[in-house]
Amino acid sequence: MSPRTRFGLQAQLALALGLTLAMVLALMGVLLQRQRAMQAEVDLLGRQAVEAMAAEGLTRRGAAMAQQLADALANPMYYSDLDAIGTLVRQARRQPDVAYVLVFDAAGNMVNDGSWDMASYGQPMHDPLAARALSSTGRLTQWTDETIEVSQGVELGQARLGGVRIGYSLDEAKASEERAAGLLRGRLDALARRHLGWIAALLGGLLCVFLGMAWYAQRTLVRPIRALAQSARAIGVGDYDVPRPISQRRDEVGELVRAFSEMSESISRHDRDVRRMAYTDALTGLTNRLAFRESLDHRLLPRGSGGQLALLFADIDDFKRVNDSLGHEAGDEVLLHFASRIRDAVQRLGGDDAVLARFGGDEFVIMIQGGDVRAAATCLAQEMVQLLGQPLTVQGRQVFLGTSVGITLFPEDAASASALMKNGDVAMYQAKMAGKNCFRFYSRAMDQAVERRVRLEAALRGAWDRDEMSLVYQPIYRLADNCIVGAEALLRWQHPEMGAISPVVFIEVAEQSGLIEQIGARVLRAACAAAARWHHGGDGTDTLFVSVNVSPRQLRSGDLPELVTQTLRDTGLSAGRLHLELTETAVIGDEAHASTMLAKLHRAGVKVWLDDFGTGFSGLSHLRRVPVDGVKIDRSFVADLQRNPDDLALTTAIIAMAHSLGISVVAEGVEKQGQFDLLRERGCDLAQGFWLGYPLNEDEFIQLLA
Ligand code: C2E
Ligand code: CA
Ligand code: CA
Repeated sequence: MSPRTRFGLQAQLALALGLTLAMVLALMGVLLQRQRAMQAEVDLLGRQAVEAMAAEGLTRRGAAMAQQLADALANPMYYSDLDAIGTLVRQARRQPDVAYVLVFDAAGNMVNDGSWDMASYGQPMHDPLAARALSSTGRLTQWTDETIEVSQGVELGQARLGGVRIGYSLDEAKASEERAAGLLRGRLDALARRHLGWIAALLGGLLCVFLGMAWYAQRTLVRPIRALAQSARAIGVGDYDVPRPISQRRDEVGELVRAFSEMSESISRHDRDVRRMAYTDALTGLTNRLAFRESLDHRLLPRGSGGQLALLFADIDDFKRVNDSLGHEAGDEVLLHFASRIRDAVQRLGGDDAVLARFGGDEFVIMIQGGDVRAAATCLAQEMVQLLGQPLTVQGRQVFLGTSVGITLFPEDAASASALMKNGDVAMYQAKMAGKNCFRFYSRAMDQAVERRVRLEAALRGAWDRDEMSLVYQPIYRLADNCIVGAEALLRWQHPEMGAISPVVFIEVAEQSGLIEQIGARVLRAACAAAARWHHGGDGTDTLFVSVNVSPRQLRSGDLPELVTQTLRDTGLSAGRLHLELTETAVIGDEAHASTMLAKLHRAGVKVWLDDFGTGFSGLSHLRRVPVDGVKIDRSFVADLQRNPDDLALTTAIIAMAHSLGISVVAEGVEKQGQFDLLRERGCDLAQGFWLGYPLNEDEFIQLLA
């Protein structure tokens, strides 16, 4: 029963029935009242009729008797025969109902009153009826309450001798009237009682009908509606598990109940869908960020329970490259592969309570708990890095991707969910910084590193416009004749407070933040503009090239060829004098894309070199498939050239292989004459290094040329 339905259906119905009943009762009351009045009237009328009938009978009898007596009295009266008169009077008195018989003379004095003593003889009559009886000549009938009196003059011929008065008692008439009335009343009462019985039966029937109606309404309307209201309220507050009301009825209420059930079914289905959509990742079907956050909060809730947990943040390395080069479908496919591999690893090593979620993009997060979480997390992270590092086949191609994992522990690293999430992110970031495809535990020192990085990125934004950046040029020599043939443009950043910042540091930041696309374009323009101003002193030819470093991201963005041709046109530098240095990693990720880009650049007349050659994992065979004009042997090989026979052998092999493919070879980081000599001996084409010349600003470089 709801507190809200103050005046429910049932109450309304009861009220309506009550009112009807009251009205019926009132009506019955009025009817009974009328019946009683009628009864009284009938009673009265009956009495009057009986009375009138009795009176009429008496009057008629009286008239006959008075006439008869008057006739009989004429002679005795005339002769004053008192005895005869007395006999006649006494005879008359013996007649039924006769109360008195009075004979009076012409003067109105009493002659005989029927008594033996005749005490009233000769006396005048003084009773109330006497006067009119005396004055009347014919027959007269008079009434009092108790009697009817018929008087008749006694005449002989024309002479009036006196008269006779016969009084009839009404007692008997009254008694019979009373009897008749009593009989009638009895009949009427019986009739009324019968009526009352009928009315009572009718009322009883009516009450039964009302009760039946109330019960029926309760059963068919009130109860189902209450049940509906109850489940509607439950559904309203989000309890979709409440049992659905069912009904087999074929009426409107049944229809309502069924419609309601269908509606609540569809609401709950909708709710489930919404919940699923809100809490799961659409692509992989894994838990999403929201749901993960909730379950993390939930597990952190019981404080002091001593439960430890670890969060592992896994992020696919260079995933964007897959998306950019192979398209989003391939990207989705990769994500699905990764999701299933991670799921396997988590199932095997994460324990029963592990939660795996995808945070959107290429970020997966795992929560494990119970036991030695540090050891378990290490184990799982190692497995993941190993497992996810294995090549994938996507759309018929092999894709090499790595994963960086950051791990944070509760309660060691932080107490709150949001701090833990941040820590996990920081640790993952550090794993990326540490060279990717590895895992790192969070440490407080990381926070500072990350903070520094964020500061650096902010400072980098607009550094070029604030004139904090400049280019220096490191001369590149031909080994054969020791002539300068060009220079590599290297970017410098002099921050007003932080001082000189190494490109190893800030290029990485620029790459990660996307700033490199802007900076790279400016470097290209400035380097080309500078090279256009260079003139080779000696023989007067302006064949000096400038070599510009291009970051992987620039190559991937796709508009590099257009940018290059535009820049060349604007600066007036001939295409043959521009060399672009690409790293191996920029090229191997997506060879198809890289090849198209390189082909376009070649068509424009620009030369492309593969930088840091030997450090990547592409191997020599790679050179066959990527159309480059030269390779730059990494300075780590050059550094150990004299001491490490393996490095010498590799360098020699690279040179031979490159030459067999018609590719020229540049050696970087030549710091000693011994290295220089060795390289020349092995047939290396060009070289740069501190021993040959430090990076110089443009003026210094022009001086060097002169
Ligand atoms: P990198 O392309 O391998 O550039 C050569 C680096 O080796 C330069 O460092 C240069 O100063 C250094 N070097 C030259 N000769 C020697 C030597 O004899 N011994 C030793 N130990 N080092 C030598 P730098 O200028 O610090 O540049 C570091 C890296 O930053 C570059 O490596 C390049 O990858 C990147 N970088 C520099 N400028 C740019 C740029 O404008 N754009 C892009 N995308 N990357 C750049
Ligand atoms: Ca370079
Ligand atoms: Ca290099």
